[in-house]
Amino acid sequence: MSKSRTSNSTGAPVDPGLLVVLSGPSGVGKSTLCRAVMQRLDNLEFSISFTTRPPRQGEVHGRDYFFVDDATFDRMIAENAFVEWAVVHGNRYGTSLEFIQSRTRAGANLILDIDSQGASLIRKKFPEGVLVFCLAPSEKSLENRLKARGTDSPEIIARRLRNARAEIRQAVWYDYVIVNDVLDRAVDQFMSILVAEGCRVSRIPRRVERLLAAQGLDDVTV
Ligand code: ADP
Ligand code: 5GP
Repeated sequence: MSKSRTSNSTGAPVDPGLLVVLSGPSGVGKSTLCRAVMQRLDNLEFSISFTTRPPRQGEVHGRDYFFVDDATFDRMIAENAFVEWAVVHGNRYGTSLEFIQSRTRAGANLILDIDSQGASLIRKKFPEGVLVFCLAPSEKSLENRLKARGTDSPEIIARRLRNARAEIRQAVWYDYVIVNDVLDRAVDQFMSILVAEGCRVSRIPRRVERLLAAQGLDDVTV
């Protein structure tokens, strides 16, 4: 990975943050997993997507999504504001290029909860990104979770279940697969991936150089 040109508040150059994509069928528990790891890890931020989908009960503009109308979404596409965007379950969703560039350059680690179309674009544009796919233990459990969530109509749930099989097929080209059966175990697995990837020497060359320099080895470069 190329070294970051940005620096922190003390003027020291920072390594770019990790870009982590989490995908999986609707209802598998992606939002739940994101919330859980963000509570446990510092320096982890959620990439808030833009969507034309109407908000569900309890969702907050600027926290869960930026809820925008079609005209705004069209304008953002025309302005190249999205690093990727896709139609998913009949609505449009997009990731802000400015946000992910500025935050990762500042050293923040980011989670993107996006579908496989978006994940494949992220892999092309940011090959150093880490792609994680979350599977449910069974098809029935997905249906039960979508119903239990209680946020979507039967028609929307049926559409999402119809789309689930095609999405699950995409798991094969991701870097990691997690099965969200027992939530705590899935959270542990997701945490392990994030922690291990964050310790890769190739991702943290500046930090490793600083650590070695602090031990008297200031001639070593990674
Ligand atoms: P997604 O973001 O993938 O659409 P959510 O995180 O909204 O899915 O989860 C869907 C529902 O399933 C929620 O009601 C959530 O509390 C529940 N859920 C998540 N993980 C589990 C699990 N391991 N076992 C049972 N229910 C779960
Ligand atoms: P939901 O409507 O349940 O919040 O999300 C539906 C699907 O859209 C999920 O698979 C979610 O990962 C995906 N999604 C959310 N934001 C984005 C985005 O910015 N880009 C893409 N490609 N998919 C997204």
